[in-house]
Amino acid sequence: MKRRTFLIGSVSGLSLVALTACVPPSPRPTASVSPSPTPTPSLVPKPENVRRTSWSADPFARGSFSFPAVGATPEQREALATPVDGRLFLAGEATSIDAPGTVQGARASGMRAARDVQAVATAGERIAVIGAGIAGLTAARALKDAGFDVVVVEARDRIGGRIDTVTDKKWPFPIELGASVVRASGTTTLDEELIGLGVITAPFSRTSETRTSDGLVVPVPDTGAQAVNAALAWAADQPADVSVARALADSGASKLSTTDADTGVSDADWLDYEITTVLALNSGAAVDDQSGWYTPAAPGLDEDRLVLGGFNGLFDALLEGIDLLGSSVVTRIAYGESGASLRLGNGESLGADRVIVTVPLGVLKTKVMEFDPPLPFAHRGAIAALGMGTLDKIWLQFAEPFWDTDAPLWTTVGGDDDFRVWINMVPFTGEPVLVGLVAAETALRLAEVGDDEFLAAALASLVPFVSPMDTATPTPAPK
Ligand SMILES: Cc1cc2nc3c(=O)[nH]c(=O)nc-3n(C[C@H](O)[C@H](O)[C@H](O)COP(=O)(O)OP(=O)(O)OC[C@H]3O[C@@H](n4cnc5c(N)ncnc54)[C@H](O)[C@@H]3O)c2cc1C
Repeated sequence: MKRRTFLIGSVSGLSLVALTACVPPSPRPTASVSPSPTPTPSLVPKPENVRRTSWSADPFARGSFSFPAVGATPEQREALATPVDGRLFLAGEATSIDAPGTVQGARASGMRAARDVQAVATAGERIAVIGAGIAGLTAARALKDAGFDVVVVEARDRIGGRIDTVTDKKWPFPIELGASVVRASGTTTLDEELIGLGVITAPFSRTSETRTSDGLVVPVPDTGAQAVNAALAWAADQPADVSVARALADSGASKLSTTDADTGVSDADWLDYEITTVLALNSGAAVDDQSGWYTPAAPGLDEDRLVLGGFNGLFDALLEGIDLLGSSVVTRIAYGESGASLRLGNGESLGADRVIVTVPLGVLKTKVMEFDPPLPFAHRGAIAALGMGTLDKIWLQFAEPFWDTDAPLWTTVGGDDDFRVWINMVPFTGEPVLVGLVAAETALRLAEVGDDEFLAAALASLVPFVSPMDTATPTPAPK
């Protein structure tokens, strides 16, 4: 079956998992999956190790990264970053205008929040930083170095937040369940710093080997990209923001031929390809939800570098000498002229002069964290308007490669598989490990299914990459 129905569907029935009052103690957005003996497409061998993520279900993330939702503006990120009464400071990737949804954007927001605090505070004051992700730890480090008394309060029993490196003897190298790429490395010092810390990175080109569901390798034309660019150009001329889906439909850009070329792929399939492998992956959101005004026409994918030596290598130096209160969920922040007070999930309280809040946008949206007094209108407006997208991963380790391509990035076109993008770790590590990526409404749907079904969906998506040698029917011996 082919996917040509993107404009018909909507994610409305699949919105992020509703808030529950009960927050489990030490969640991880992931589970080790026992390779199942149950339905795996017989052509793909059973993996030896499996690890999946479910970031939308993680109570301390509620999604993977923020995206420009239809109706939201970049100024709303600025509004979110505006200090409240000189007591409350918000940071985190969603508050970054230059690089939202990235590690460097989150890090820059932590530096900015630390500067905002220093502008109004006196050295020696007690600053509570909520969240031990890259934004929180960056802010904490800067303030500690400037002579402040800093405490970091973190809900999980680990640091790093959406940087989640697993170093486990089951895996031949550190695997990244959250961020794994230094995006647009030429625009940031992050890669140099990782190298300085001894963390290996490698150039990561977004040029993929693309196959049809029959395994045919096909060149990617610019049909889909051109249609999206035409739709975004049309959207830019509209009096109000519209979704990318509406822009595609109303501009006429999505009116593409559904007749298959010799390859079995039609122009409409190439538009679907652009939507699922580029737009959905970059935002974590369906085109129905993405802003026609602010979705980047050509996302900055140049000079990406894949982190191979553990993204969490960033944290040791940041954390040195800083008080960390782990496994402590902040449920309420009261702030006023004389200072601030945090209430924790276990009923305890913590006083501070000022507070930096770095919890993800997805968490702010659920309102598990009460603010007293409530956040100003502009902050609440920004939280409601900005979008939180979902990207999930599955890591698979095989006994040996069953594929015959050296391409580091694989994509599929024209089929109906859930995992349309794969990273082949062989060229980087020599190990037969694959990483499947799934985003937007497909990721939200799969977050609801059990491990066996998740794995089966991933393995079914790998069938186009099975080496013909493994699939060839043996020729009968001559009689
Ligand atoms: C699957 C995936 C892939 C990604 N890929 C990339 C990539 O390749 N490149 C890239 O640049 N970016 C990528 N990102 C985005 C990147 O990981 C984030 O932008 C960045 O790590 C966010 O950092 P942060 O400090 O803003 O938030 P976080 O890292 O989420 O830190 C917030 C912290 O707050 C804590 N917290 C939440 N609620 C509470 C509470 N009530 N009380 C106390 N603490 C709380 C959380 O546990 C967390 O530790 C990816 C993200 C995901 C999920």
